[in-house]
Amino acid sequence: MRLYDTKARELIEVRPGKSGSVDIYCCGPTVYRFAHVGNMRTFLLGDLARRTLRAEGTSYRYIQNITDVGHLNDDVNIESGEDKILAQAKLERKDPFEIARFYEQTFHEDLEALNIEPADAYPKASDSIGLITDLIAQLIYIGAAYQGRDGSLYFAARSFKDYGAISHNSLDQLQAGHRFDTVSADVEPGKKFHADWALWKSASVNREMTWQTPWGVGFPGWHIECSAMSIHYFPQGISLHLGGIDLRFPHHENERAQSNTATNSEFVRQWVHGEHLLFDGKKMAKSSGNVLHIADLRTRGIDPLALRLLFLENHYRTQMNLTWESIQAAHTTLKRWRKKIASWPQDGVVDREIHHDIINHFSDDLDTAGAILLIRKIERDESIPEAKKRATLLAADALLGLELDHHDELTITHEVHELLIERESARQEHNWARSDQLRDLLLAQGIRVTDGPEGQSWEAL
Ligand SMILES: [Zn+2]
Repeated sequence: MRLYDTKARELIEVRPGKSGSVDIYCCGPTVYRFAHVGNMRTFLLGDLARRTLRAEGTSYRYIQNITDVGHLNDDVNIESGEDKILAQAKLERKDPFEIARFYEQTFHEDLEALNIEPADAYPKASDSIGLITDLIAQLIYIGAAYQGRDGSLYFAARSFKDYGAISHNSLDQLQAGHRFDTVSADVEPGKKFHADWALWKSASVNREMTWQTPWGVGFPGWHIECSAMSIHYFPQGISLHLGGIDLRFPHHENERAQSNTATNSEFVRQWVHGEHLLFDGKKMAKSSGNVLHIADLRTRGIDPLALRLLFLENHYRTQMNLTWESIQAAHTTLKRWRKKIASWPQDGVVDREIHHDIINHFSDDLDTAGAILLIRKIERDESIPEAKKRATLLAADALLGLELDHHDELTITHEVHELLIERESARQEHNWARSDQLRDLLLAQGIRVTDGPEGQSWEAL
């Protein structure tokens, strides 16, 4: 398989490392709210890479971290230095660890809904404090980190000569005026240089989610956890490091500086980034209300795997604009494929040539869009016997992950669809009387609605 390397700016062959397997690390979620579907598109990248390696007969290992502590908000509350998890805990009046465990669970459920295979391990930052402080001690010993006037520990950006190679920045270019300045002025007054970043933040003993260390009470910075965990799981280096494009800088630059310095090596062989996902032409952001979750699909009676199909129809390196129309269209296509496959005879054999063509599309920088076009062509091709089409598409499903052999006759009417949407809004407005009334109306139509933490879900009786 070849994938585009952000640092080298070219396609390079994915290769096993010294361990003998392709060791993959993907930056995981900060578990303080529901992951939106843009996050899920990045996580799908790791799933598609693994399915392709498996089809090629290459062994792999896959680790994804869970950030459940200390992640200062990068875009909203940077001035206040407020921790996302602590802020959400305050809002929901819950214990911060309870918040983290809840959203960690919903993250796993969302992965499952999109048929994203589980990682070999999901290390949590809060369970990795020992690894993190050991790594910081090592960086201090090497001379790459220091304790600032405020008691926090910082990585000295200028100690890493190659800083900026992934995002093609340099420390000279990262001048005053960049948001580093805001950070240094308001949140991190102790650092010596504007581009230095916190490895460990000192905190008052009254703050929740803090730990005792030789440098005082505090909590880890965000960037250091990925270095600590990836070095722990893959001491011989990472073959493939995945993440969303927004993590390229500063997160991945900082991670690379830390990991390379600590291991005295080019620790990551290949950096691969997934592009942004827009919703209705705009960046997905909770602050503007322009955000889509897996639960929103279910509310509208849409199979979450329709979203997976839609993602497959767009290359991971293209900025993609999601709309309800495109999601609905993918849902219709998925239903049609499943229905046809269920109706085709079961005694066919896989067309080897087509099967290899599909694998080749995946191997070529995850050209999933090309694979889907090919599948549409096979669907229409009357020269291929239906039994063979069925066997070939089901074999391709090991890569596609669309559950093409799953078929139920359920199609909801426009009226049911409207009732489901109306009930969800009634619930959001706490109009319980109306919500119960709508539930009974739906039941009369053969649709049973149940309410869970992620909103309503429904099934046909
Ligand atoms: Zn990371």
